[in-house]
Amino acid sequence: MIDDTMRAIDSFQLLYITMPLSNVGSNPIDRSFHRKSMSDSQSYANSGWRLRLSKMVPPFAVQRDSLLSGTLRRAIAGHRITVEEGVLLHNHNSLAGLCALADMIKRSRFGNHVFFNDNLHVNTTNICTLACRFCAFRKGLRHIESYALSPEEFVSRIEPYGNSIDEVHAVGGLHPQWTVEHYANLFRSIKARFPEIHIKALTSVEIKHISKRSGLPIRKILELLKDAGLDSLPGGGAEILVDSVRDRICRGKELSKEYLEIHGTAHSLGIPTNCTMLFGTIETVEERMIHLDRLRVQQDRSGGFQCFVPYPYLPDKTRLPEAQLASVNEIIRVIATSRILLDNIPHIKAYRMNIGDLVASIAINSGADDIDGTVGHEEIMHEAGSTTRLDNSREELARLVISSGLVPIKRNSTYTSVEVFDGMDRTNLPLPIAGQV
Ligand code: SF4
Repeated sequence: MIDDTMRAIDSFQLLYITMPLSNVGSNPIDRSFHRKSMSDSQSYANSGWRLRLSKMVPPFAVQRDSLLSGTLRRAIAGHRITVEEGVLLHNHNSLAGLCALADMIKRSRFGNHVFFNDNLHVNTTNICTLACRFCAFRKGLRHIESYALSPEEFVSRIEPYGNSIDEVHAVGGLHPQWTVEHYANLFRSIKARFPEIHIKALTSVEIKHISKRSGLPIRKILELLKDAGLDSLPGGGAEILVDSVRDRICRGKELSKEYLEIHGTAHSLGIPTNCTMLFGTIETVEERMIHLDRLRVQQDRSGGFQCFVPYPYLPDKTRLPEAQLASVNEIIRVIATSRILLDNIPHIKAYRMNIGDLVASIAINSGADDIDGTVGHEEIMHEAGSTTRLDNSREELARLVISSGLVPIKRNSTYTSVEVFDGMDRTNLPLPIAGQV
């Protein structure tokens, strides 16, 4: 299997593997051979992929279809796929063809590779002054199940995982009392105990709330938090970046423009961010494509989005009975279309916590290149009905990737250090399907 894995990498010849592959394969225990740091996370993801795409042989499902083959030609030529074309692609009658095209584009950037990391989710508080209709997580201040972690309690949640994770992912509700002081203390406490752990924290609406509570502008808040240890923003809360939709599903949240401006400000301060999309509530397909286009325009301006994370609405304990919900077919369509439209955001995530491992395994063959991380603890999606396991080890994540015919790559939070993950016990792996790896 190791040889098969290395052959798969060899076939793509990604530039960041600097040792000769024969050496790597002969010494699978020494993973330092696989490791490579990059000064710019986008340098290899965004460079040369159109040229590589032009040299790939399109699958028959793409060749024989005028919309898909035309889209491929436009992508190679560097033309943008419009919102109208995005709608046609999303609704294309051949799901297989759509996925084949998205997978081709993904492979032109990353070959057979699928990224994951060692991370832990810890929520700061479930108390929230808003009441978004899709949210199963928030509680009122006096609710019996409400909580608000002190910095010490937060750090103690990390303690059992301290030696095994690279990143802590921390978001929460809009606490009515907490100001920037609280979050700065929190991040300083985390860094004091775990200086190596990357802090990915705070959605844009939390940033806006902290700004309001503290009486300071957004830029100042981000500067203070960065100084205290904040490394990146996770991107949650984008929902659909169309204000008429937002007004119905999350009234009171930041406007679309504010979401984009907060991320743009973070980018200008050197804070990378992710961006998300919650779909399957009340939006139209066109509004999904407008959302993608707005992210794409923002990325042209500020360039700091690392990864796009689309996830479908989960309805348990929420208050949105008119939601249309999204089928598996639709989830895959959204992921595939995102890969095709978002030509300037390198990574597309199949967010296991929301879509589950089975759908994620399809998604990573349909345009997605990342399956998030070990996570360990998750409340937001699980309160809303997710049944994704929370005790997956990195070996199990790698197994999920390999059993999908792909190569697991362990990454850091900014994709600036990556390594082929081969430190697993393969005794229970399914046999590879001929020609897949
Ligand atoms: S989604 Fe966020 S802002 Fe909205 S109610 Fe839930 S916790 Fe509060």
